[in-house]
Amino acid sequence: MRIILLGPPGAGKGTQSRLLMEKYGVVQISTGDLFRENVKAGTPLGKQVEAIINEGKLVPDEITIKMISERLDRADCKNGFILDGFPRNVAQAEALEKMLKEKGIKLDGVVRMEVDDDKLVERISGRFTCSGCGEGYHDKFKKPAQADSCDKCHANGKFTRRADDNEATVRERLKVYHGQTAPILPFYKSRGMLKIVNGMAAMEDVTAEIEAVLKPDSDSDKPPPPRMCG
Ligand code: AMP
Repeated sequence: MRIILLGPPGAGKGTQSRLLMEKYGVVQISTGDLFRENVKAGTPLGKQVEAIINEGKLVPDEITIKMISERLDRADCKNGFILDGFPRNVAQAEALEKMLKEKGIKLDGVVRMEVDDDKLVERISGRFTCSGCGEGYHDKFKKPAQADSCDKCHANGKFTRRADDNEATVRERLKVYHGQTAPILPFYKSRGMLKIVNGMAAMEDVTAEIEAVLKPDSDSDKPPPPRMCG
């Protein structure tokens, strides 16, 4: 599986990437995570990007593209990967196309997760993750069974919230998404690579839709019809 997951902040790209990663044994490459790791470790790259991230703006293309190219060369990408948060604008999409051609890598598809904008701020501002295993939680939609322990890895009380998950920054990130990232949709549609899923459905249904649209006989760039009950 070699795919790009596209969608606004809070669409559930990280959650779906983790589910697919476990199921297919591929790696999740999240540019946001890579930047945050560098910020946390205080590397020169981290120092360069910290303020940009906290304002919800895009890190310059040159830095981001170089980071992705190096990441794709690592051995763990051989079995496949999920790009989460890259590309973020047309220049990055063009650079990625060129880079993959040079590396001899073919993508299986570009999956767009559609969500209602008005739900995103609520989704993002309540979210937090286990710093041990990365499992995601939400103040309203998915609380851990015990307030101070992760349901999955049982790390005690080690939850973190992203510095850029506050309302003002979320609004800026949504503005950047609509202004700069959404224009890459026609780029992939014109190449017959764009697949659309309903990101508002239950987590496991979204995963099933992603798997369905990636089947070779599905060239859908429209959401699949809702499944019937009974
Ligand atoms: P994310 O975790 O994908 O929401 O990304 C968090 C922040 O990292 C973004 O708001 C940007 O500041 C930065 N970032 C992540 N991916 C990219 C990218 N492809 N291009 C530029 N900046 C990025």
